[in-house]
Amino acid sequence: MIPTTPRLGMLIIVSGPSGTGKTTLCRKVCDGEKAVFSVSCTTRPSRPGEVDGKDYFFLDEADFLARVDRGELFEYARVHNRWYGTLKSYVFENLRRGVDVFMDIDVQGANQVRGCEDELVRRCLTDIFVMPPSLDELRSRLSGRATESAEVLELRMKNAEAEMQHWRDYRYCLISDTRESDESRFRTLIEAERLRSSLYED
Ligand code: 5GP
Repeated sequence: MIPTTPRLGMLIIVSGPSGTGKTTLCRKVCDGEKAVFSVSCTTRPSRPGEVDGKDYFFLDEADFLARVDRGELFEYARVHNRWYGTLKSYVFENLRRGVDVFMDIDVQGANQVRGCEDELVRRCLTDIFVMPPSLDELRSRLSGRATESAEVLELRMKNAEAEMQHWRDYRYCLISDTRESDESRFRTLIEAERLRSSLYED
């Protein structure tokens, strides 16, 4: 029998060390109609060029923790000594409307989402780990970005190694190569995942 219910949105977790290009990959496939990027809340300061409400919702610590208390966050974690979290309402509204939601979140947040017992989330979830080709290449990409101090860069490199221990927790592992190759493999993967039968309600 042909499915009669509309397709739900997919929830795609994309994790991996900062500097692997995962945010760029997510942004490329999010057209704002069929797929949206989940804009996170963070207490880290904005980088030059970042726009509040587009790249992140930049909050102070008191505001962030008040949202946690009010149960507004789907998941949240302390990453590189700052808070980061995803807004619950945004994720659920889009999944129900059949819009795919891309979450660029760390391994702790990914674990929280995997542990979520909500039936909608369980049906819609898929996860991808984006791996740098090597630690040397990661360091050169991060320093090329020139947005972080030497101290923050070292912290990010240290955390990268810790994050990379978790790649097996993810269904997919994309080892970064050229931008073109990464984008092409990422798009192929997303197209295939969109065909999952579990995305149709009973
Ligand atoms: P950045 O400061 O470079 O934008 O992000 C640092 C790290 O925080 C990245 O690994 C990113 O995936 C993670 N991150 C961004 N938003 C969220 C979020 O909402 N929740 C969690 N758990 N991690 C996040």
